[in-house]
Amino acid sequence: MKKILTGLKPTGDLTLGNYIGSIKQMIKLQDEYDSYIFVADLHALTIPQDPKELNERIRKFIAMYIACGIDPNKNTIYLQSENEFIPAISYLLECSTYYGEASRMIQFKEKSKQNANFSVGLLTYPVLMAADILYCDADFVPVGIDQKQHVELARNIAERFNNKYGEVFKLPEPLISSTGVKIKDLKDPTKKMSKSEENPAGVISMFDTKEEIEKKILKATTDSDNMVKYDPENKPGISNLLNIASSITNTEIKDLELKYKDFGYGDFKKDVASIVSNHIAEIQDKYNNIINDEKLDKILDDGIKKSRELAKEKYDDMKKILGIVRFEI
Ligand code: AMP
Repeated sequence: MKKILTGLKPTGDLTLGNYIGSIKQMIKLQDEYDSYIFVADLHALTIPQDPKELNERIRKFIAMYIACGIDPNKNTIYLQSENEFIPAISYLLECSTYYGEASRMIQFKEKSKQNANFSVGLLTYPVLMAADILYCDADFVPVGIDQKQHVELARNIAERFNNKYGEVFKLPEPLISSTGVKIKDLKDPTKKMSKSEENPAGVISMFDTKEEIEKKILKATTDSDNMVKYDPENKPGISNLLNIASSITNTEIKDLELKYKDFGYGDFKKDVASIVSNHIAEIQDKYNNIINDEKLDKILDDGIKKSRELAKEKYDDMKKILGIVRFEI
């Protein structure tokens, strides 16, 4: 079975956009691949974080992913920071990474422009990401287009290392979802629903109450022609609500258009509001059962054990091949 690996950066709140655009895809992939999922808590530190908030979010993230349907029996789930071999591998990889190629990463260029006092971690985190991917011989890394360059960097570093020292790493490939639908902001449906958005009225958090969710959907921006039709260009608000309903109910858009053909926008929104709020409430029920359960620790203990064993093996191989061992190689 081919291996895939996904890192979840515990910053901001998980949104309906994350759920539909990412978590639901991961749930599909868990049946086809040997799947590794980790909380990228070290990556969160590339920009300043409040320690207490970050700490709370780590457990919340994992519990919410499991509540959404990520199956601990089908996934190896762990916290990145609990595997001390990963940063150690990252350092060894840094010594095979050119400063030029790291500083050419688009995300580094953009984020370093936003704040003159950026950390060295902002420059080196793609190498840490390479370590995340390469230690466990991941075949595929599902990423958005914005992270594709980082997977390519991991592949380039691996190839360079292999060519110089011998076959140590499998060469990973990015897995770009072609079908993934983008969920739009409810207040401004021309832009993506994002956890960093300042106006919460356009963003549904997976932790919102039923009332909050319903209110946000009822107040979603639409056009004025009162016809429920899928037309992202001219009717971005209605099309966004159709996308949301389609994904949650696993119904084709054309069937939804048929279902709602005699509905005005008010009734359509009421129906979508109830579909979304009920669905998220069910997920939250599961979340509440998991968040303080010892089983969550058992899942993370099992995950980190497996992850550490693999990483230690890779680190020892690397050290040996590099000559940094006390015995003669
Ligand atoms: P982010 O929350 O931006 O770090 O994104 C994490 C993952 O969720 C990525 O795979 C994104 O593509 C996905 N994602 C985030 N927001 C949306 C959205 N509004 N619609 C679809 N997918 C999203």
